[in-house]
Amino acid sequence: MALWGRNAQFMKKRDIKRNQKILKTMLTGALLAFFVGIMFLTAGALKKDPGGITVSDPESFSSGESIPIPPSDSRESGSSVETAGGDSSLAESGKEAEKNGFIVCIDPGHEAEQIKELEPNAPGSDVMKQGVTSGAYGEASGKNEYEINLEVSLLLRDELTERGYEVVMTRETHEVRISNIERAKIAADAGADILVRIHCNGVDNKTVQGVLCYGPSLANPYLSKDIITKSQKLCVLLRDGQCASTGQLARENLYEDNMTGINWATMPVSIVEMGFMSNAEEDLYMASREGQEAIAKGLADGVDDYFKEYPKKDS
Ligand SMILES: [Zn+2]
Repeated sequence: MALWGRNAQFMKKRDIKRNQKILKTMLTGALLAFFVGIMFLTAGALKKDPGGITVSDPESFSSGESIPIPPSDSRESGSSVETAGGDSSLAESGKEAEKNGFIVCIDPGHEAEQIKELEPNAPGSDVMKQGVTSGAYGEASGKNEYEINLEVSLLLRDELTERGYEVVMTRETHEVRISNIERAKIAADAGADILVRIHCNGVDNKTVQGVLCYGPSLANPYLSKDIITKSQKLCVLLRDGQCASTGQLARENLYEDNMTGINWATMPVSIVEMGFMSNAEEDLYMASREGQEAIAKGLADGVDDYFKEYPKKDS
């Protein structure tokens, strides 16, 4: 009995020890499961970030749904949040950036249907041009120019908004009917400080690539000297901003006075030709999410540089 008793006591002690061991194992397991769970949740959240959205459906991020681009540096982003990785700033996207007082009108070139009716290419001009042409087409990407133009424009809108600009869009869908003159009027009515028109290029020679901007020549009879000078500066800074961000070739800007999109502007204006859809490599780059984000960031840098050059608001 005594032996049994001692044995029982010993068994008891051993049981307690074993139970403690089991409890320890269970606790460790639970902790492990907890952390693994957290990791899965984080991975799930990252998968839902804008990077996961395919660029083939521009409408999926067109209506009100703002897709923030994490600022790659903190300059003028209006947010003091340190971003260790690109995605960590997404949590801050709900924050409203401090307004800097400048209004940027973005005009995503072309639209789903061309406007065949003619309109004068300048105020008082006899030269008639098509309201809106169909634009370029990329064989490699299978995309129309109006699609890429809007996709980049929406990213640029969000990037500039994050940096404190007020942004006015001439269109946010493809199914619109606004001529080039009407687009200039939207910018004027909004009191925009600059008008940035977003386009892609196309030529017969498939090897040609690079970025260039169209602006008015110094002899443009429809725009003031002040607007012409500022437009040319805007052209240089937008092109250089994009090329610095993307590594694309910077081509010589073209200053011409036969374009409706320039002559009807009532503020500094630039038509950005982001690259050549006739060049397979550049076409695919402009159609890719990665390329579009780099272009939008570079153009936003160009806008920042412009307002550093001309920090005073025109009355
Ligand atoms: Zn175009």
